Amino acid sequence: PQWVKVIPKVELHAHLSGSVRLRTIRKLLQKPENVSILQDAESLLEGGIKSLEQGFRLFPIIHQLIPDSETLRMVVQDVLNDFAEENTAYIELRTTPRDSRNMSAEEYLKTVLQGVSEYMSAHPTGMVCRVLVSICRHQSTEVARDIAHIVERIRTLRPDLGGLIVGFDFSGNPNRGQWEDFEPILRKVRTELGLPITVHFAEVLNDKECMQILNFKPERIGHAVIMSDLVLERLMKQEPPIGVEVCLTSNMLTNSVSHLTEHPVLNHLLPGNHPICICTDDAGIFDTSLSEEYGQLLRYFPMSRDDTARLAMGALDLAFCEDENVMATVRKRMMKAMKPP
Ligand code: IMP
Repeated sequence: PQWVKVIPKVELHAHLSGSVRLRTIRKLLQKPENVSILQDAESLLEGGIKSLEQGFRLFPIIHQLIPDSETLRMVVQDVLNDFAEENTAYIELRTTPRDSRNMSAEEYLKTVLQGVSEYMSAHPTGMVCRVLVSICRHQSTEVARDIAHIVERIRTLRPDLGGLIVGFDFSGNPNRGQWEDFEPILRKVRTELGLPITVHFAEVLNDKECMQILNFKPERIGHAVIMSDLVLERLMKQEPPIGVEVCLTSNMLTNSVSHLTEHPVLNHLLPGNHPICICTDDAGIFDTSLSEEYGQLLRYFPMSRDDTARLAMGALDLAFCEDENVMATVRKRMMKAMKPP
């Protein structure tokens, strides 16, 4: 319905590179320096992304298209503008700092933070943005440790930028790497940097890992689609409840769930008022938007405008930003905008 776009929303699970619009990707591919990857990219983009593995072949291509801070700045502004157009009141944008052709991982992260800061300065009464730093499970633990150090350094040397980082994310190809290897690093991040952690959870069947993750008690989890009844039961019983970032189109397109009526979060957690947040994951490569994600939900689980607005508002309780003044402002703006004309 039309009102879905109008109600103020919260985005807690959006990967920067995956949120770059297809139009922007195609534009960047036209640059002469990208001629060598044009063919690979076109063949991947042609039929749309239909599996997780296909998605993971596209990310390195997008990364090659963003080799310098100038392009990265442009991409950050584009992505934030797209979310603002969807009436997003608060967003936590996540990204994996990485070395690229003309940028170190540290420069990369600083550029993203600068972009976010610039966006908010240019839109003082607009969307509030914060950043989550991603640790990628298909990279080495050394890279992960370096990223934690980079964050520590930025928070010390550039508190104006470091303050925008409100948590860490554990993501990457779920068929590669092991949670247990990265757990000590994330535990340290939580205790020494005092940052909360969100973990990609049950994207593929791996009950052992799911149990390890639940024992770690992440502050949030993302996905929660493929798991045994045992894991689901444990998730439902865990106290305090762990907020779940739900990415419906992503789960459908990557075949994690064959039909939304079979989605465990929608079937078992939503009816029990478990805290959830409807999110996009990779709005660019999956060609979706936050309104479209609410639309997907409503198609199979119809809700009134008021209940949908309440669901969107409830997601704010899962936000990692601890600045009470900022959050009170967002809440007030959302309340005001929630009232139908
Ligand atoms: P970036 O961190 O901004 O470069 O965004 C792309 C990265 O996000 C990918 O390389 C993955 O590590 C991660 N990512 C994006 N979508 C997914 C997903 O569905 N599952 C796990 N990781 C993902």
